[in-house]
Amino acid sequence: MQLFNYREIRTPVFEETALFARGIGELTDIVGKEMYTFPDRSETSLTLKPEMTASVIRAYIQHNLGEQPLAKVYYLSPMFRQERPQAGRLRQFHQFGAEAIGGELPAVDAEIIALAVEIYRTLGIENILLKINSVGCASCRPAYKALLKSYLERVRTQLSEESQQRLETNPLRILDSKDKQDRVLTADAPLMKDHLCPECSTHFRELQASLTSLKIPFEVDGRIVRGLDYYTKTAFEIIGKDLGAQDALAGGGRYDLLVKELGGKDTPAVGFAAGFERLLMTMEKQSLLNVPPPVPLIFLAAADDEGKRWALSQALEFRRHGISCELDLLGRSLKAQMREADRQSARYVIVAGQNEINRQQFMIKSMKDGSETPVTPGRLLEDARRLQAQG
Ligand code: AMP
Repeated sequence: MQLFNYREIRTPVFEETALFARGIGELTDIVGKEMYTFPDRSETSLTLKPEMTASVIRAYIQHNLGEQPLAKVYYLSPMFRQERPQAGRLRQFHQFGAEAIGGELPAVDAEIIALAVEIYRTLGIENILLKINSVGCASCRPAYKALLKSYLERVRTQLSEESQQRLETNPLRILDSKDKQDRVLTADAPLMKDHLCPECSTHFRELQASLTSLKIPFEVDGRIVRGLDYYTKTAFEIIGKDLGAQDALAGGGRYDLLVKELGGKDTPAVGFAAGFERLLMTMEKQSLLNVPPPVPLIFLAAADDEGKRWALSQALEFRRHGISCELDLLGRSLKAQMREADRQSARYVIVAGQNEINRQQFMIKSMKDGSETPVTPGRLLEDARRLQAQG
């Protein structure tokens, strides 16, 4: 995120419910049935955030982030949705994502997509698929919506119950229905990407040209719909092919109408959100999570009370200088401390007591070969640094 010059934004865990109702849309699954909503003591309705975009835009408007020509922000935050828990679907989960607010050119969409893809590439993740689409804008979508609706009216009674409801509220969402019969019935349905106005069509073409020149593989999929009226032009998803039923690693798109809808100036914007747990699941499947836990370089073992006091202050001194160490905080015997150092795979042990302190000499013992090296207090830090550098 820093390499792409995005700055971190943190927003509260909850917001006024009205923000999400307007920012995400009353007719979406999230607002309709998934939000954790409750009244506070003054009967204001609050909601635990189910996604970040509405909160980011609220903050953007409230704190004048629009003073900069293009505001680029990223986040990593817990999210809450009341869904049926299953693999890859949790009720408290985490998302990381980014929003670029203030730019209308397809170059911004390309950067947001490149940023998302680059994160997976940097982590060594394979088997991902980028799907892109254009969902049009306020000038071309209404006519397309009417066309799609009249196409679907003819098969209305054969559609799933959910899709029949969506025919009234949000017909575009029928295109990404998971129901088998719906899929068959919509196989030849008209798609937004084939009915774009000249402006949206050029935007989509230029985005594809940018992705091609960045050598980012993609597939155009006319069924990717973000399903909200505020979404415009670009919509995309990154699919993890190892994930199973819940296979979306990340999703994003352009939302040129949202800032104005939430009370700000007319401001184009684009962003993405990615699931952290699904990222970890993918890394686990692809054996990319085999990072050994960090081990302390040195265990400071105390032989007596004098040694305990010394270990406590020496540990802070080491840590201030970037040397990882551990000590006994449970008053254990010297023998038990040595067992603990071994259990934690500490690489060296220094035993300290009244004797060592009086003599002004400690022994650094290697746990690997048992060898012991004498060291004076004045050289302790330097020697520890040398051992750390040896790796
Ligand atoms: P969305 O905001 O629904 O487009 O979700 C963006 C990403 O967040 C998805 O692609 C998932 O990776 C992740 N995600 C969404 N909902 C959940 C959930 N309930 N549990 C875990 N991850 C989720």
